[in-house]
Amino acid sequence: MATFALVDCNNFYASCERLFRPNLKTRPVVVLSNNDGCVIARSQEAKAIGIGMGAPLFKIRDVVEEHGVAVCSSNYALYGDISERVMTLLGSNAPNHEVYSIDECFLDLDNLGVPDLSDWCRNLRQKTYKWTGIPVSIGVGPTKTLAKLANRLAKRSIKSGGVIDLVHHPEWIEPALRKTPIGDVWGVGRRWSQMLEERGITTAHDFAHAEDGWIRKKMGVVGLRTAHELRGYVCHALDDQPQPKQTTCCSRSFGETVRDKDQVHDALMSFAERAAEKVRRADQVAGAMQVFIRTDPFNPNAAQKSLSGSVSFDHPTNDARAIAGAATRILNRIWREGFAWKKAGVLLLDLAANGTAPLSLFDAVAPKDDGLMNAMDTINQRYGRGSIRLGLAGKDQNWRMRRENLSPSFTTKWADLACARMV
Ligand SMILES: [Mg+2]
Repeated sequence: MATFALVDCNNFYASCERLFRPNLKTRPVVVLSNNDGCVIARSQEAKAIGIGMGAPLFKIRDVVEEHGVAVCSSNYALYGDISERVMTLLGSNAPNHEVYSIDECFLDLDNLGVPDLSDWCRNLRQKTYKWTGIPVSIGVGPTKTLAKLANRLAKRSIKSGGVIDLVHHPEWIEPALRKTPIGDVWGVGRRWSQMLEERGITTAHDFAHAEDGWIRKKMGVVGLRTAHELRGYVCHALDDQPQPKQTTCCSRSFGETVRDKDQVHDALMSFAERAAEKVRRADQVAGAMQVFIRTDPFNPNAAQKSLSGSVSFDHPTNDARAIAGAATRILNRIWREGFAWKKAGVLLLDLAANGTAPLSLFDAVAPKDDGLMNAMDTINQRYGRGSIRLGLAGKDQNWRMRRENLSPSFTTKWADLACARMV
């Protein structure tokens, strides 16, 4: 029988915020979406006092006050770096692994050959906590869908010690299926769960026992696979070589609307640099790009406009200078005065592995890499993003995100290193 584990970080963003700030350990913690709009992550204590997922900050001000809730702006530089540490550790402990999201990782434990898998998982859990400071839960199952389901229950059960193994305890599978609402099954979205509930299928157990022909008719082969996985038949293998990305996007809503072209340009330059950096990281080049700007669709009093333009590159590139230059040309072409812009973005398209991109008929030689981008990446990695930039950044940066409660970049900026003090 196949053996999959799903390792999931508990309340990941909140756990990252606590990592270097021990004074948050005993307080409820919430993390806010971009521009400090609404709650996107909560610590256990924050869940317990009834703060809902997606709650707008202005609506929970009283609760925040009353319970001394720590409110954090999202700090993706920190979360991304901690995630890499956790994934590297997990990957080096299992024969095969698949990073599924920023805080989840599937492990293939088929050929592990340990006498007691639950023990091994508990050790891995402790090691992860000791080495990275992040608490995780582990669910083990004969399929990925059952591993996910086991993980959800491991998080909720104090008795489990953070680990539930359905492979060596097959007798737990049925009660586990009965305890799982259909909407919490991996791959069953809100639309499907509503449809299923209306027909009396309210748990994973009901769904696993529904008739194949009916499932196929209602939910197609995707739904059928989920039912089979719940019955213990593997339909989703471990995907340890993720497909290279075809597009990459860097876009953001502005903290305030912006009317000034220079400021929109400034924002686009920063997105272009960031998008180019992402593509270089994946060792890819872009064949084309698109730039878009739009007004705020939620403001009924503002004139609405949405503009975009694209270019394709003669030489596929990941050079920030070429990409920023093209973004400038597109903006000059599409710009219209008189609107209050709320969002802008840069998309890099037609991505290909570096070195495989075909030369055009008229190319004598491929454009030479002068090492500048490499040097910039090294400096930014070492001293923190934005330490060195193309000479394009402007003065007033009203477009920048509102991040009033941003925690320091403890692990990616020297200046933000945590201080330990002898008392
Ligand atoms: Mg999680």
